[in-house]
Amino acid sequence: MSVRRELGNTDFEVGVIGLGGLGSATVHALARRGVSVVGLEQFELGHVRGASHDHSRIIRRSYHTPHYVRLTAEAYRCWRDVESEADRPVITITGGLDLFPPAAAIDPADYRSALAEVGVEHEWLDGDEIRRRWPAFARGHLVDDEMLAIHAPDTGIVPPDRATALLQELAVANGADLRPLTPVLSIHPGGGEVEVVTAAGSVRCGAVVVCADAWTNRLLAPLGHRVPLTVTREQVSYFPVGNRQDLSIGRFPVWIWMDDPSFYGFPMYGPAGVVDRIKASEDCGGPVVDPDARGFDPDPEMEQRLARFLNDLIGTGLGAPRTTTCLYTLTADRDFVADRLDDHPNVVVGLGAAHGFKFAAWFGRVLADLALGGEPGADLAPFALDRPGLERGFDRSSWLV
Ligand SMILES: Cc1cc2nc3c(=O)[nH]c(=O)nc-3n(C[C@H](O)[C@H](O)[C@H](O)COP(=O)(O)OP(=O)(O)OC[C@H]3O[C@@H](n4cnc5c(N)ncnc54)[C@H](O)[C@@H]3O)c2cc1C
Repeated sequence: MSVRRELGNTDFEVGVIGLGGLGSATVHALARRGVSVVGLEQFELGHVRGASHDHSRIIRRSYHTPHYVRLTAEAYRCWRDVESEADRPVITITGGLDLFPPAAAIDPADYRSALAEVGVEHEWLDGDEIRRRWPAFARGHLVDDEMLAIHAPDTGIVPPDRATALLQELAVANGADLRPLTPVLSIHPGGGEVEVVTAAGSVRCGAVVVCADAWTNRLLAPLGHRVPLTVTREQVSYFPVGNRQDLSIGRFPVWIWMDDPSFYGFPMYGPAGVVDRIKASEDCGGPVVDPDARGFDPDPEMEQRLARFLNDLIGTGLGAPRTTTCLYTLTADRDFVADRLDDHPNVVVGLGAAHGFKFAAWFGRVLADLALGGEPGADLAPFALDRPGLERGFDRSSWLV
């Protein structure tokens, strides 16, 4: 039974602030339920100042807790529903390797036991078998005989730029009102509704969902709330592969180096001008920034560090990279936030903690449940605003997941 809010004197049942991946999925989920919804975005749709642009994000079942592993099944299911509604593919399956060098900073036991407990198909491979199956790793020296890895065949890629645009397109097709270039200046809950003050005037909503990622506290602080967050500027690099034939989908997996520093990468994937390159990046390698005062120029040291690592991992022959930047918004425990404000239950907050795009379609559903006052169709206790893990100090090692 879908819960609805009375429209009453409000302009919309629900207002969603921020049209990145999470906000766009939330507007879509609400519109699909016939809810009157407005989506407000400060910049143009598809902008590159936040976290949901660029060509690829990893979607995987391998996670460090059974709770996350179970949620990944929902993540895939929700994206599959979007695919069938649009009759267009979103997920590309590539297979994935979580690479654990000896004494890795990230413990493989957590991943193996979580996958086993939930019954997700996976293998535990040694260096010899990795090099046999994916010859690119035989051209480097890091995947030696001591290397071990989890191979998860369901791992794949979701394109944040195209998937976010698709969610927006479907939302409009279901009746949603999207307003780009409309910064929200403040929100004022009271009397069972929320007045949303924007630079283009105010709208009254029965509830509001804040999907503002790096800018979240700008809206919550005037309400006396603050989520402890660290915003970092990360970068991803695209390396031309030249005449290498061993880096295409089917011959090369999505991979994650489960150590400190942690790196990750993709096989050749993306639109023209990108598909002849491989993408790679360092997880949590960037500086802490203010989202409104950050630069966009790549950090050459980070780029060189990554290029050196790639040479060691898959050998030489890669050309000079093209690099783009992006924002991580990290909670102290790197767990999500999906909850209502305790003193204003019609104000909902959603945060992907810099690993949320694979879950964007799922986030859309549970944030819509919360906004409509219903019971969310998932156990969100680990993502509560009052959990102790949010308040513990920031320590980079707890971000390594
Ligand atoms: C380099 C990089 C690699 C990543 N890799 C992965 C991966 O492999 N797998 C994965 O699952 N996740 C990954 N992530 C994380 C994932 O991309 C993010 O968790 C997700 O995109 C967050 O989406 P969002 O909608 O919350 O944030 P955003 O896309 O940043 O959207 C927030 C929006 O709110 C708008 N906004 C803010 N304040 C206001 C206001 N006052 N008024 C109006 N609009 C406002 C902003 O302009 C912005 O558009 C990665 C992120 C980065 C940066």
